[in-house]
Amino acid sequence: MRLLLPSCLALLLSLSVHAAEPLDAVERAIVPVAAWGGTPADASKARRHAITQITLHHQGEPFKPGTDPQAYLRRLQTWSRTSKNWLDIPYHYVIDLDGRMYAARNIDYAGDTNTEYDPSGHALIEVVGNFEEVEPNQAQLDAVVELMALLAAKYKVSLDDIKSHRDHSDKTVCPGAKLYRYVKEDYFRHKVALRLAGEQARSR
Ligand SMILES: [Zn+2]
Repeated sequence: MRLLLPSCLALLLSLSVHAAEPLDAVERAIVPVAAWGGTPADASKARRHAITQITLHHQGEPFKPGTDPQAYLRRLQTWSRTSKNWLDIPYHYVIDLDGRMYAARNIDYAGDTNTEYDPSGHALIEVVGNFEEVEPNQAQLDAVVELMALLAAKYKVSLDDIKSHRDHSDKTVCPGAKLYRYVKEDYFRHKVALRLAGEQARSR
């Protein structure tokens, strides 16, 4: 029994996560800034930080099917720099309607916000759409789990520090009630824990 139990556990874990790719494959799947036509931020103006938390956001505006996500990212980068006078897109990663992940602000640089919390130390993920209005689709939910798991493993972020914008600020409903439900009900924390356990079992 003493010998059997760990292998049973490993089998169970591998069954529950059998479809998952290794986390380094998730990292390779992230579309780099240059690939969507973005430009790097001015490093001399950046506020450097070390990641201790993961914080989920939504776009807060409808994202119509058929919208080119790369054009959206280019507009968002221009707007962030010119209208807001920010260093860059406020978030480090953006997830589109198909669950594709895009690099935005360099993860080494602290983000920006319109609300009162200090995003220093936070890895910021934005999902396109307004989740006060629409439900997130499964591809988006899956991508959030994959990206959160990658970041949690890479930066040793505790599951307790996987939260959303409204958990840090009273001034926003972000990431929208229909996405926040998954934060509040521990869907993401649970899925990330499984994903990380599967990754450990794989590397054994
Ligand atoms: Zn937000």
